[in-house]
Amino acid sequence: MSVYFDAPVSATDPLIAEALQNEKARQQDQIELIASENIVSRAVLDALGHEMTNKTLEGYPGARFHGGGRYVDVVEQAAIDRAKELFNCAYANVQPHSGSQANLAVFFTLLKPGDKVLSLDLAAGGHLSHGLGANLSGRWFEAHHYGVERETGQIDYDKLEALALEIRPQLLITGGSAYPREIDFERMAAIAKKVEALFHVDMAHFAGLVAGGVHPSPIPHADLVTCTTTKTLRGPRGGIILSKSTDYEKKLQAAVFPGVQGSIHTQVLAAKAVCLGEALQPEYKSYARQIKNNAHTLAETLLGKGINLVSGGTDTHIVLLDLNAQKKTGQAIERLLERADITSNKNPIPFDSKRPADWVGLRLGVSAATTRGMKETEFFELGQLISEMILAAGTEKEETTIQKSKEQVASLCNRFPIYS
Ligand SMILES: *Cc1c(COP(=O)(O)O)cnc(C)c1O
Repeated sequence: MSVYFDAPVSATDPLIAEALQNEKARQQDQIELIASENIVSRAVLDALGHEMTNKTLEGYPGARFHGGGRYVDVVEQAAIDRAKELFNCAYANVQPHSGSQANLAVFFTLLKPGDKVLSLDLAAGGHLSHGLGANLSGRWFEAHHYGVERETGQIDYDKLEALALEIRPQLLITGGSAYPREIDFERMAAIAKKVEALFHVDMAHFAGLVAGGVHPSPIPHADLVTCTTTKTLRGPRGGIILSKSTDYEKKLQAAVFPGVQGSIHTQVLAAKAVCLGEALQPEYKSYARQIKNNAHTLAETLLGKGINLVSGGTDTHIVLLDLNAQKKTGQAIERLLERADITSNKNPIPFDSKRPADWVGLRLGVSAATTRGMKETEFFELGQLISEMILAAGTEKEETTIQKSKEQVASLCNRFPIYS
């Protein structure tokens, strides 16, 4: 036995070991409703904590810059094959370290500095890597944004077409972090074609729903598609680039490495392969279907209690609350729910204030709790207690309502345990 090679972190680093242990307990004892989170399998965790992390490797299977890569080649080839089968596409690059890196590689492939991109506004649910001024994408490209309609909370495609004709972007981008509805990829592809733009779909949030067959796939319509392997897909933290054709293969391979990245996160690659393998199993389809049903139940329950939702509902795992009518901020309600052990996040809604502290949106997502096994009954209960807490906020009933909810949450967490 060697301390260095064999002692667990609990024996060598009490500070970090305690934080890790507390984090694990937090995940067991709180209901996670942050839409970008999920709970990965033990198999994914095994891969992430594997000795494969020691291996440095650059390049692609069969064309590496270092020796000793034959087992990582097995893993990378499996991840590529599984991604292609799962999403029914001709090209997959499984190396991006994150969703943002995958997007950067797409921009590196398709654009020159100064080119124009047209993407969903951050306030309408877009993502910062699609041209926010403070992000590299907004510094190096001329970013323009389309929004959603005030009444519907959804994209108006006629208006988008008019805007695209006016701006004439090189790249049309869609997908976001807080857009609860399906996007019309076919219509957007037609708009891109009309203005001679390329079309990029970032399906970071809903990739798991596409994989599970409960959401339209952007693959046939987009030139390039990116996603994270976290979020609904339910894998490690990382990104993937996909395409229906191999037209951009050479440029994309070079854009990921050496374009925007160096060596591979080899242990994450193994975890990606495991999660893609899981997504190909029949049970995954039931998980994806349950996400849709749970989100629908949560949305209907909240609406029934008089809580408004952006776009009036959901087609995905996301439910975006509009707290204007209750005169509450997202931040206040996020803090309130956390006192009852429910984790969520404040979020802007369309046309919201610029100041995060004043945002009136709260974003909820059902993926993690669905993975725990919660179904319609539990989401009805959650919808009830969340609305009751919102309505009790700031009244004399606040404290008792939170205490009652906290007990219900504890009982749910006990009935739906995670890692033993
Ligand atoms: C989460 C997300 C990303 C970023 O992924 P990271 O892995 O956090 O870099 C990119 N695009 C969209 C639409 C996202 O929701």
